[in-house]
Amino acid sequence: MKIGFIGLGNMGAPMASNLVKAGHEVTGFDLAAPCPEGVAKATSAAEAANGADVVITMLPNGDILRKVAAEIIPAMATGAAFVDCSTVDVESARAVAADAEAAGLLAVDAPVSGGVGGAAAGTLTFMAGGSDAGFAKAKPLFEIMGQKAVHCGPSGNGQAAKICNNMILGITMIGTCEAFALADKLGLSRQAMFDVVSTSSGYSWSMNAYCPAPGVGPQSPADNDYKPGFAAELMLKDLRLSQMAAEAADADTPMGQAAAELYARFVEDEDGLGKDFSAMLPRFEKRGRT
Ligand code: NAD
Repeated sequence: MKIGFIGLGNMGAPMASNLVKAGHEVTGFDLAAPCPEGVAKATSAAEAANGADVVITMLPNGDILRKVAAEIIPAMATGAAFVDCSTVDVESARAVAADAEAAGLLAVDAPVSGGVGGAAAGTLTFMAGGSDAGFAKAKPLFEIMGQKAVHCGPSGNGQAAKICNNMILGITMIGTCEAFALADKLGLSRQAMFDVVSTSSGYSWSMNAYCPAPGVGPQSPADNDYKPGFAAELMLKDLRLSQMAAEAADADTPMGQAAAELYARFVEDEDGLGKDFSAMLPRFEKRGRT
């Protein structure tokens, strides 16, 4: 396929590379980042989109997505697919999809889980919203860039799935970290804590697959001085998106709100910026109740 790829940052560059390796013809555009090897460089987003069967965007936020969409939708051929893999607010995803469909395009919102490592290894999970035809067109590309793609329903539902998943992740990571810090103070070893919880009803991905305690459980960013991994500020972004969505939908999400507030404090007022989101554990470790 002829693919336009816009946004070649930490995630976009390795995703575009994997499409090139699989034999696709990829033309890329980014305001700042260089094109990875094998990706032809366009001088504008519209040029990258012109004549493409599929255009993929991997951008920082909903405002930038809306801006880029306004540039590329008029440049795309009727019947081509606009696949946005960025994590953005549900409202922007739905607005962009409506504009794309009104212009005769297929539109898919397909945020990912799996991080930079998953993007490089081609093992991302895609959560997709959009029509059956849009999903079918994008699926062969999801299979190259990832290992699983779930069609979650109409436009915006991919973003909805992503922020609900990450709201659970933020909450369980905080819960796991505060429980470790309490266990420390009660004189329980971290290894004993892991051995019990990882095989008991408190288990979770945060404990079992991404244990926030260094030297315990599988290798994780905790074993690498909390270098991300998944940075605390990206978790904060996703928690804020979940709270925006909860506001708009009138959903009561007290734990999600508390998690967003805690990560905001950690990133903006404490020393969490640039650390993995599991660095909540050393944060709790240093604190008492006040
Ligand atoms: P990044 O900042 O590394 O990359 C974004 C790229 O977009 C940058 O290179 C930037 O120059 C480019 N860009 C910005 N405005 C542009 C424009 N108008 N036209 C063209 N290019 C433009 O971010 P990233 O880590 O690659 O993340 C991309 C998206 O994926 C975000 O929405 C993020 O939330 C999501 N995401 C990231 C991770 C992760 O672990 N990094 C995991 C899952 C999802």
